[in-house]
Amino acid sequence: MNFIKLQNYLKQNNIPDFRLKQIRYAHYQEALSGWDQVTTLSLSLREDLKIKFPWLSVDEEKLLTDKDVSKALLKLSDDLKTETVLMRYKSWITACISVMVGCPVGCLFCATGSMGFKRNLKSEEIVDQITYWNQKLKKEGKRVSRVVFMGMGEPFLNWEEVKKAIEIINSPDGLGIGQRNITISTVGITPKIRELVPFSDQINLAISLHSPFQNERERMIPVASKYLLGDLFRMSRGYVNRTRHKLFFEYALIKDFNDSEKDAREIKKLFGNEKLFHLNIIDLNPTNSNLQPTTKQRKDRFIKELKKLNIQFTIRRNLGEEIKAACGQLVVE
Ligand code: SF4
Repeated sequence: MNFIKLQNYLKQNNIPDFRLKQIRYAHYQEALSGWDQVTTLSLSLREDLKIKFPWLSVDEEKLLTDKDVSKALLKLSDDLKTETVLMRYKSWITACISVMVGCPVGCLFCATGSMGFKRNLKSEEIVDQITYWNQKLKKEGKRVSRVVFMGMGEPFLNWEEVKKAIEIINSPDGLGIGQRNITISTVGITPKIRELVPFSDQINLAISLHSPFQNERERMIPVASKYLLGDLFRMSRGYVNRTRHKLFFEYALIKDFNDSEKDAREIKKLFGNEKLFHLNIIDLNPTNSNLQPTTKQRKDRFIKELKKLNIQFTIRRNLGEEIKAACGQLVVE
């Protein structure tokens, strides 16, 4: 729900400020599922607001669940659709949210990119993806505790709306999720990343690397031709020096493309001895592209070389492949 518009409406109609607080609480904290449940308001006010302000800006079209992962297809007010994913871990629950319908970046391994770009999401459409999950989790007495901007779209190409969304996600009278529990994933839009630290030096940042060689990275991520690796790593050093937080580099292992010992050695050249640079290795998830996941043998050799070179890394578990909810698989068919 767009609370700025709601606030203006309440003001124009001389409805006292505390009503806005009650609605915010019911929406973000209690995760109530509609105006009818906000019984702190009079019936006539509820009926009036119901017509003018839909409780959620997203509407469930389809929900798929496979073990600990759920994926929802959500319809927006203009009938376009986007997707969001929920991942349950032992100690936390993560919502992976979208910032666009489709994506203009067109990464070779990503199903979203193959859809083309339809439009940016508004801040309320971004935040309401989390509220949607909180409404589902309410029955179990649980809530989303972590948020990753890793769904459809590049967050730094919709930065103004993403910033507004983060403020609500983080605010104590919004969703109240700490900034250290929020992660932005980017293909490396260097000028925009520079704006992140002045906005927040607590939010986690994950940059898609996928190849340590400029020309091969451009094949994977076409916009990488504008944001050169040299600049990206200069900026990354500045980022870790200021924040003293780990900076994550995402690396989908692709057979005969980026899985050799030579690639590992080139990553070492980029990382140098910076202990705060961290490589997140993910298996390539199947999409319609011709790219193949690496073999076990090649992966083992690559990992061995990373260890030898003293590169900090984590091998990430693949979740949600069965329901096409894994990284790079989100697409509205
Ligand atoms: S990986 Fe991210 S930036 Fe690249 S096409 Fe997919 S959604 Fe867009």
